[in-house]
Amino acid sequence: MTFEGWGHSKREARASAARACLAALLARAGRVLPAPGAKQQQDFTSDEPGKVPVSDFQCLEVKMKPPPSVASVKSSDTSPEGTPPPAPCPATALFGASNAATVHKSPINVLYENYPGLSFTCTFGDGEPLDSCQAPLQLSHSMRFKVVCTIKDQKFEGYGSSKKLAKLAAARSALAVLDEGRAESPPAAAMAGFLPQTLADRVGKLVNEKFNEVMKGDLVHSKRKVLAGIVITVNNRTEDARVIAVTTGTKCVSGEHMSVRGRVLNDCHAEVAARRCLQRHLYAQLLMYASAEDPKVPIPESDLEPLPTGGYQMKPDRQVHLYVSTAPCGDGRIFSPHEQPQPEPDRHPNRLARGQLRTKIESGEGTIPVKNCNNVVQTWDGVMQGERLLTMSCSDKVARWCVVGLQGALLSRVMKPVYLHSLVLGSLLHPHHMYRALCGRIEAYISSLPPPFQLQRPLLARAASTEARTPARAPSFSVCWCCTTQLPEIVNATTGKLESGQPSLLCKQSMFARWQYLVKRLPLLPQENNIGIEPVKMPEDLDHLLYNEAKQLCPTYQVAKERLIEAFDKAKLGRWVKKPLEQDQFVCEVASAPAHALFA
Ligand SMILES: [Zn+2]
Repeated sequence: MTFEGWGHSKREARASAARACLAALLARAGRVLPAPGAKQQQDFTSDEPGKVPVSDFQCLEVKMKPPPSVASVKSSDTSPEGTPPPAPCPATALFGASNAATVHKSPINVLYENYPGLSFTCTFGDGEPLDSCQAPLQLSHSMRFKVVCTIKDQKFEGYGSSKKLAKLAAARSALAVLDEGRAESPPAAAMAGFLPQTLADRVGKLVNEKFNEVMKGDLVHSKRKVLAGIVITVNNRTEDARVIAVTTGTKCVSGEHMSVRGRVLNDCHAEVAARRCLQRHLYAQLLMYASAEDPKVPIPESDLEPLPTGGYQMKPDRQVHLYVSTAPCGDGRIFSPHEQPQPEPDRHPNRLARGQLRTKIESGEGTIPVKNCNNVVQTWDGVMQGERLLTMSCSDKVARWCVVGLQGALLSRVMKPVYLHSLVLGSLLHPHHMYRALCGRIEAYISSLPPPFQLQRPLLARAASTEARTPARAPSFSVCWCCTTQLPEIVNATTGKLESGQPSLLCKQSMFARWQYLVKRLPLLPQENNIGIEPVKMPEDLDHLLYNEAKQLCPTYQVAKERLIEAFDKAKLGRWVKKPLEQDQFVCEVASAPAHALFA
């Protein structure tokens, strides 16, 4: 077969011949080649079958043997032509022009235009000059390069996996600060629902720096795919922001390692581990009160304060920020796989696939909708026999924390719920998808939450120094550092225990022991008799109390959780998948441990 094409230049003629070839092949498949420029975008999330059936392309592939490639078109195209404008290519003819043409002005250009005389200096992430040596190995991928942007006497830092990304981050960071100072342009920070950019940058930077500091000298465990962390601020100030937790991880426990004694971590995804570290911090804060002469006297340096009627709460001037280096797995990530220069609204918010509850799959990294799972009720013997252990996706878990808080069922007996003030992402923040995943998908369906529980909408932000996608295989360990101790724990995510085989200080058994220690010594949160919920009395004997019985001691928490599950159900987004109930039927085994060991 030969195909001919004509044009003003060799390139144009070649493209024209290629187009003729493609048109002929498509015609054989009963299809018409779309006019150049006609848009034909594929959306893999569409509810309708695709407009261009896959068979067309399969048919193309088969018939293109031997492929009449553009190279077979006679050409002596060796003369240098400089850099001619891009010619229409066959792909453009088929799929339409790329959207990349609609470029938004880069933050670097904006800075050069507005602040002539600025300078950028690039070093390795730790400040070493580029000509000194190789990139320091202990620096995480996204911190490899550091660029400092100097404008008059102000300096702004950015980090990145390449010099270009670091420069972009420094420019973004500079713009965020300078925009806040300029009255005429409303800063991005003032946008409803977003955390101020300077604070978001600070949160991201603190978590990354703490990780590098904690892992210094440990090259093996510095490897990571997802990094998460928790930062607490006072009155949203950047100066005294404190890192509470830093964690990594993308894996869950393997079914055969489930524990009937609460000694195993089920879920080592970074953000889930970070929340457990925050709980460890809350327990340590409560220990300060339990060790005080009078546990009802406020401690100035604590994040918590006693309530006059009993129990505790996070001080009202405190904010909890969760940083995750990428969008949480599940609904918040699945529809936003690429970076976008500007947030764009979801073009198909009503697609059936939107908002679905999804589960992580055992020994894998993806998620699947719960509607596609056949074992919605998980049983111990089923999992032991090899049925895949299912764990809810991080997007679903964070959505749950927006209703029941981060403190969990046990601590709800002692303190009021602790909610996320913000979620800061290091990459892939698509605000519309993220908002839906966190609360948008249930806000119309959740009702009659028993006080003090409420639907809390966290502010969103993307840190200026963005994370690059790392195609390397994800390690199967999880690093968990909490501000209560110096050294991090390295958890084998597959066994859910430390690499030494010992249980983690984050496991249910450890939390249960801390809780038992505290409830004997602290004034508990009064259980209000609200909307028909009967308060439950604390049992006299804690020795025989089962973990799942302890969780029922705060009935309002259980009702709030039930309302959340009902909301997902009513919104037709699937049913929350629970772990086999045998997992929570254990007693506390370390009740007599000394406080310093228990609360480490
Ligand atoms: Zn996850």
